[in-house]
Amino acid sequence: MAFELPPLPYPKAALDPHVSAKTLELHHGKHHAAYVKTLNKLIKNTEFERMRLEEIIQASSESAAHRKVFNNAGQHWNHSFFWKCMRPSGGGKPEGALAEMVERDLGGLDRFRESFIAAGMDRFGSGWAWLVVEAGKLAVISTPNGEPPMVSGRHALLACDVWEHAYYLDYQNRREEFLAAFVDHLANWEFAAERLELQGEGSYTAARAYDEAVGRHVRSGRSDEAALAARRAFEGPEGDALRRAEAEGRRHSRGEDRRAAAAAAAGSRVEGEGSYSAARHARSGKQGSEAAAAKSAVEGSKGAEHRRAEAEDRTRSKGEVSGARSQGPGARKPRS
Ligand code: FE
Repeated sequence: MAFELPPLPYPKAALDPHVSAKTLELHHGKHHAAYVKTLNKLIKNTEFERMRLEEIIQASSESAAHRKVFNNAGQHWNHSFFWKCMRPSGGGKPEGALAEMVERDLGGLDRFRESFIAAGMDRFGSGWAWLVVEAGKLAVISTPNGEPPMVSGRHALLACDVWEHAYYLDYQNRREEFLAAFVDHLANWEFAAERLELQGEGSYTAARAYDEAVGRHVRSGRSDEAALAARRAFEGPEGDALRRAEAEGRRHSRGEDRRAAAAAAAGSRVEGEGSYSAARHARSGKQGSEAAAAKSAVEGSKGAEHRRAEAEDRTRSKGEVSGARSQGPGARKPRS
């Protein structure tokens, strides 16, 4: 569904003389209306079309390709917010919890006034001055162009538009006078107090950041459930096997099993060579003292041992010994 220009919460002439009807007519009826119209055009038939305004702002905030969407969505949000930050016969002072926080975090209302005006004045070019909640404390900040504070995880309480279109008809180049008029005669502290109460529910950025962090955690396989299951397995009956496998892995990486296998192979090679040639001679059926000696060796008391050595030689030449080694050093029986 397309976004709509929200009506002003007061008649156009209600803020006069601090903001004239003519300024509001243009600012609300032309500038804000243009942001809404452009936003609707930009998001039509895109992934943004079904999102809430805050979702569009967050989703488009980090992509240069979506800069136009971000600018227009941000300005629609900022202006909708800004109209509520002013009221006829505004200004005055905050009450209750908000008043306490202004005192505690900003050093009092006079200091707030100074820093709010300074934030608006120091914003070079176009942008906004804000009173926000940041990490549980009030802060005065400014943002450039159409950027709302939610993008940096802050919760907005009050805003003043310092784009020239906000004040030029009434103040020309005197931005500071406009900012002073906003604080002294227009600021809607009741609205700011309502926003303060909403900060938990309204902290869309925080909720989104949490969801994303949980998503990353689960995708990485480190969810609490997975971690718990792994721990149970390690401490339970499977743990011994896991620890043995782990120990073997360590030995393998240190090369200990390779050295053990090499030592064993060196021994068997000496033993095996003689038996192998003896067996070959015996099978050839050659007569003679050498063959007879070999035959008696194979068939005699040492025959079984020789055959084992021969079998092992064949096994090694086929590479089977590396498979046997992977079962651990205990898999090979020492020979006498
Ligand atoms: Fe504006």
